[in-house]
Amino acid sequence: MQTILDLNYEELKDYILSLNEPLFRAKQLFEGLHSGKKLKEMSNIGKALREKILENFQDFPTQIYKKLESKDGTKKYVYKFLDGNIVEGVLMKYKYGYTLCVSTQVGCRMNCSFCASGLNGLVRNLTAGEILSQVLIVNRDLGGSVKERKITNIVLMGSGEPLDNYNNVIKFLKIISSVESLNISPRNISLSTCGLVDKIDKLSKENIPLTLTISLHSSNQQIREKLMPIAKAYKFEEVIKAAIRYFQKTGRRVIYEYAVIAGENDSLKNAEELAKNLKGDYSFHVNIIPLNEVKERGLKSSKNAYAFAEKLNKLGVSSTVRRTMGEDIEGACGQLRNKILKDEN
Ligand code: SAH
Repeated sequence: MQTILDLNYEELKDYILSLNEPLFRAKQLFEGLHSGKKLKEMSNIGKALREKILENFQDFPTQIYKKLESKDGTKKYVYKFLDGNIVEGVLMKYKYGYTLCVSTQVGCRMNCSFCASGLNGLVRNLTAGEILSQVLIVNRDLGGSVKERKITNIVLMGSGEPLDNYNNVIKFLKIISSVESLNISPRNISLSTCGLVDKIDKLSKENIPLTLTISLHSSNQQIREKLMPIAKAYKFEEVIKAAIRYFQKTGRRVIYEYAVIAGENDSLKNAEELAKNLKGDYSFHVNIIPLNEVKERGLKSSKNAYAFAEKLNKLGVSSTVRRTMGEDIEGACGQLRNKILKDEN
């Protein structure tokens, strides 16, 4: 059964009208849900109507199952859905507001060699409502509501591959950026992908001006194939070409993610090769990420992050090192979920 949060405003209005209820009920309902409330908490809507709705839909699908706070102020949330599945999210506080890192799938089928999310494969896609619920429930936890937005920025960098759950992610993006919901501008949303070329092209035509982030993690095809199985299907060069097309179509600067892994991709020769292979007539930036070590994966963080970024900059490639946050609370995607699953079994 669909949850009531899976409906966008238009769909909710149609549904309410189909029950012969006045339109303002749809507005009340949407406001309540997007303030992070369950139907049963909405005393402004009559009990009979709420019960009627619950015959057709499931209620707000998500609860906060655990919350951890890091020494640096970063918070980690673990959410539980109606079927018992859990995913995690990270909330980072910046000068201008809060950024929430959101998950799009339970698990992931990409199985990148450094990542915790793919350790147990893909369990299932999240629905648009389940993706939304993460933002709405944390916004509420921060004391916000649909009228008082606490979360200003979203990164789709939690567990899962967003473009492998394309339709639900697009529906989520359209709802969360709408005026009736939290009205978060797509310009404040980053979507990170492992490089599904056909979906990048599709996304470029959606007219959603978000920031596209591509996980490259390598300076050539051979390294990429070793670190990321998906590189067998979408070659290094094809990914770069898709990024160029994306920029040409949308005018949005593309960000490459590059986690430096000791002995795998972190030499200055790799930096030189990367600079050479990224060249082209388009705007991009390289984010160097210190690897968050995942015990089961056995890969080690490199000490070369700053030297690597410096080399890129010298070669004319704009690059910065991303600071790490929340390391003491298993901040990297999928790490905490795996720990909880292990502890509970
Ligand atoms: N599936 C999407 C989102 C993944 S998470 C993608 O591939 O982009 C967001 C980023 O974190 C990706 O760049 C991913 O490669 C990176 N990442 C995953 N595990 C990591 C780890 N252990 N240390 C550092 N970065 C990691």
